Amino acid sequence: MIKILVNDGIHPDGKKQLEEAGYQVSTEKVSQEDLPKELPNYDVICVRSATKVRKELIDQCPNLKIIARGGVGLDNIDVDYAKSKGIQVINTPAASSESVAELVFAHLFGLSRFLHLANRDMPSKGDTEFKQLKKSYSKGIQLRGKTLGIIGFGRIGQETARIALGLGMKVMPVDLMIKEATIGVDLYYPDAPTIEVSLDVVSMDEMLQTADYISLHVPFTGKALLSTAEFSKMKDGVILVNAARGGTVDEDALLQALENGKVAAAGLDVFENEPTPRKALLEHPRISLTPHIGASTGQAQTNIGLELAEKIINYFSVAANN
Ligand code: NAD
Repeated sequence: MIKILVNDGIHPDGKKQLEEAGYQVSTEKVSQEDLPKELPNYDVICVRSATKVRKELIDQCPNLKIIARGGVGLDNIDVDYAKSKGIQVINTPAASSESVAELVFAHLFGLSRFLHLANRDMPSKGDTEFKQLKKSYSKGIQLRGKTLGIIGFGRIGQETARIALGLGMKVMPVDLMIKEATIGVDLYYPDAPTIEVSLDVVSMDEMLQTADYISLHVPFTGKALLSTAEFSKMKDGVILVNAARGGTVDEDALLQALENGKVAAAGLDVFENEPTPRKALLEHPRISLTPHIGASTGQAQTNIGLELAEKIINYFSVAANN
């Protein structure tokens, strides 16, 4: 019987699908130290970002056929080495795109109307300084009609564009590989036509000089994409959101840009030093903060679990037919 170790959790629907396919699924967490002893008993390991599957561990598991990562990033897995050993490495890159894009707008709306600050102030001052707070937070901005720059026009970037178009924003995408994409803006109502909008990417400089809002959706490749030089090209008072990866925005440069007014406010879901982000960011009055929860919705977790199950089942059914 095929044995699957799910070490960082899976949605019950995904587990059910694997069990219905006849596999034995263990969701009992095995500590990193005990994995070399336990994992050789399994055909598949499912992880999120917590469990590391490195060369040394792979070498101890000759029976391992699949390393399955629920989510996108594969930084915790020695992918090339696993593949060289004939082990399939799978992930679920699209499952959480809509949820991440929605979190971007949670930050954009919140920052544009000072929700992050009002929520910090109202419990202590809402009944004594109501009028002062009302005045402090009275210079809100509507998103409709504004320009959103999207850096990285892949899965999440395109979902972000879809929401922005629906809101009546102008979208300026930037991407290294993608030149244009057609975004289908669909309404809830089944008979309503999907409105298709073709968007060409623009240069980074053009976007930086034009955008009122900027959102990042690129992988981290070891170097910040937005640093002092890029901040200096932005419009004064831009609002920035990073729900991509810590390090894609230079945090020192961001703090400086917040100080000199170049950046009016920032929304951060990801940080250089996770899980201990620096205090200067956490305590900054013009930063809206979330603890890396872009993919943390029920729908995204269900999608991740089901996509993993489907890919694992597909692998073994193809292998059985060969
Ligand atoms: P994707 O691969 O579909 O898209 C990334 C795009 O970025 C690609 O089109 C690529 O060409 C482009 N790109 C890469 N380097 C670039 C550069 N220097 N300049 C311009 N464009 C560049 O990836 P995705 O699924 O959209 O994910 C995007 C990011 O979101 C990833 O870093 C991922 O780790 C992150 N993410 C975060 C969360 C969260 O919880 N906050 C959840 C899922 C994914």
